[in-house]
Amino acid sequence: MMSTMPVEGFDNSNVDTILTLPEQTGSTAIADGCRASALAFLNESSRWGKAELAMWLMGPYGQLTQYVSQYSRRRSGEFAKQAPLLREIDARMVDRVIKSAYEEVMAALERTCDPEGGASFAFTMLAAGFVARCEDRGHVAGWVPTSDARRLADRVLSLIAADYLARPADYDSELAVCGTCKTVEFDAVSRARGICHRHGSGMFVPGQRSTKPYLPEGA
Ligand SMILES: [Zn+2]
Repeated sequence: MMSTMPVEGFDNSNVDTILTLPEQTGSTAIADGCRASALAFLNESSRWGKAELAMWLMGPYGQLTQYVSQYSRRRSGEFAKQAPLLREIDARMVDRVIKSAYEEVMAALERTCDPEGGASFAFTMLAAGFVARCEDRGHVAGWVPTSDARRLADRVLSLIAADYLARPADYDSELAVCGTCKTVEFDAVSRARGICHRHGSGMFVPGQRSTKPYLPEGA
């Protein structure tokens, strides 16, 4: 089913309230943090247990979603609970929760590679209230993940949405998934090769050294 482009949705209540970031916190730094934290989940969570997941949720994720707790509270009339996920899941379930979130996020990420899929992803996240507009003290506009997401997949996706909305072109031209190790990174060369640098080195690197004799400068 073809849905209409959700552009009119961007003028809705989700973007009416613009959050002003605290002093010393830039919109670009938030996008960078969201990207780094999402990549940490994607590239490292296969080795995580409950403790590592807890550290991620309370550390990078918790920091990035702290800005909108008041905004969220105001909208919903209740205090947004922090990380209820951990209390809800059994340690033995952590593996499964991480794995299914990973798969869901990877599938969503794939759709952001083309602009239409990306716009649809961003609209879904906005409509769910998982990402909100912000502006820093230097009047640079950006996006912040809210603390509204409850499922682990949605939490990771809210970080990706904030980064995506700030710089969608990166997803269109640099987002790369290594065909060998599944490492996710932003690198146009890796994207073109389909493999990361670790797996690409020595195989696809065009000859850097000229076979022509050369004279060192000054010789
Ligand atoms: Zn690789």
